Amino acid sequence: MSKLTIPQEGGCRCGQVRLKISAPPIITMACHCTGCQKMSSSAFSLSAAIPAEGFEVIAGEPVIGGLHGATRHYFCPHCLTWMFTRPEGMDWFVNLRSTMLDDTSGVAPFVETFTSEKLPWVATSAVHSYETFPPMEAFGGLMQEFAERTASA
Ligand SMILES: [Zn+2]
Ligand SMILES: [Zn+2]
Repeated sequence: MSKLTIPQEGGCRCGQVRLKISAPPIITMACHCTGCQKMSSSAFSLSAAIPAEGFEVIAGEPVIGGLHGATRHYFCPHCLTWMFTRPEGMDWFVNLRSTMLDDTSGVAPFVETFTSEKLPWVATSAVHSYETFPPMEAFGGLMQEFAERTASA
C-alpha cells in the first residue's frame, strides 16, 4: 500500500476551494452505498479520514450540499464538487474525498463499506469488506492494522 505525501494540498474541479492535510489518514475507505453512488456520480465514494487538526481549507468557502442533515457534506460553491464530509457526532476527523488530493497515489481504500448495495461489476482492492458499516468495536483494530500497513509501505 503506497503512502500519501504529507503535508499535501488538494482542491475541487475548478480550483476555487483548496485544502491542505498535515496529518496522515487514520483509515481509507470506499463506500458503495446508493447515497455515495449518487453524490459522487459514480460507482462508489473514496474517503481518507483525516484527524480534524490536520485538515484545513486554505482557499474558498465550501458550502453544505447533499442531504443537508446532521452529517455535513461540503461542496465547492462554484463547480459543486463534493469535497469532504464532517460526520454527525464525530468532530475529531474529516472524511476527505480522496480524489481531491493533488497526488492520489496513496489513496487506495483499505476498507470497503455497503457491499450490499455495490454495483455487481465493481471490485476494489480493499482488504476488508463489510455489507454495511463495520461495527464500532471493529474500528480500533482496523485503524491499527491500517497504521501498520502504511508504516511498512
Ligand atoms: Zn470548484
Ligand atoms: Zn456511502
